[in-house]
Amino acid sequence: MPALSKPIPPLYTVYILRSTVRHASLYIGSTPHPPRRLKQHNGEAKGGAVRTSRNTLRPWEMVGLVSGFPGMVAALKFEWALTNPHLSLHIPSSSRISTSAGTKRNGHPKRPRHSLTSILSNLHLLLRVPSFARWPLNVHFFAPEVHEAWKKWCRTANEPLRDTIRVLTDFAPSPSPSAPRDSENPSADNEPQKPWGIHALPLDYAPMKDYVTKTQSIYDFEREGSCVGCKEPLEPGKGLYATCSNPGCECTGHVSCWSKLMLGKEAGEDIIPITGVCPRCKGEVVWGDLMKEMSLRIRGPKEIEKLLKKPRKRKARAESTT
Ligand SMILES: [Zn+2]
Ligand SMILES: [Zn+2]
Repeated sequence: MPALSKPIPPLYTVYILRSTVRHASLYIGSTPHPPRRLKQHNGEAKGGAVRTSRNTLRPWEMVGLVSGFPGMVAALKFEWALTNPHLSLHIPSSSRISTSAGTKRNGHPKRPRHSLTSILSNLHLLLRVPSFARWPLNVHFFAPEVHEAWKKWCRTANEPLRDTIRVLTDFAPSPSPSAPRDSENPSADNEPQKPWGIHALPLDYAPMKDYVTKTQSIYDFEREGSCVGCKEPLEPGKGLYATCSNPGCECTGHVSCWSKLMLGKEAGEDIIPITGVCPRCKGEVVWGDLMKEMSLRIRGPKEIEKLLKKPRKRKARAESTT
């Protein structure tokens, strides 16, 4: 099958990159792996973008990002709209914050220079336009002053964001007040630093391990049963089936039937569900989770093999914290 047939990545993000040397230098990009991408921008790994290759502006840092895209194409669309607010059809021209900065030789409008305010205001706008507003996106901020600027913008914006959009912060841990850096306390310095920011994001499928273990057992042993929606028997391998993500629940159905169930009255329109309730276990189901598991099952045999082969150490640690 062609390259398109990859499973939905564990994470896909559109990020705001800032020069630590000159904060006014900002850049927007997208990646499934922010730590690796940042290394590329900083010249520590191959494949950086030309515009971030100037040594005088390095190192770069990611001060914020948007996650929760259903896949790469969705993220690229969002990245493009955020990078080209003067062109994007998603943004009505009356509400564009950055108007075009003149025209290029070919008559096309020039891209205006990004400023933090223009990026944040266009981000706010994009999260509200119908084409993106239904996606279960998360907005992350990793620099306190960028989060402050965002809050300030939210207070002045005419419209609030949908409540399905989560805003999360994760800032650099401040040095502990009981053990200031200049004190004679070497043990504080030796403590391994807890990962934060882009280094604390889930970059693999590990959080899905139990879910995938369950669905593997259902589909391997052909226990699909009958569809949760239309009640027809689900013949193994005869269609696109999705299974409830809640522990222990084997409720399975056609993708189209889950969609109808989750959309309720809205069904029939060309829209994607966000969340719903499983009719069998009554637990909440997130559409993106169902799709991620299904895409992994159908298109990611290698990824599944890797996920289910993970050393048991990791699992034991995760369990001991619960
Ligand atoms: Zn059905
Ligand atoms: Zn269920």
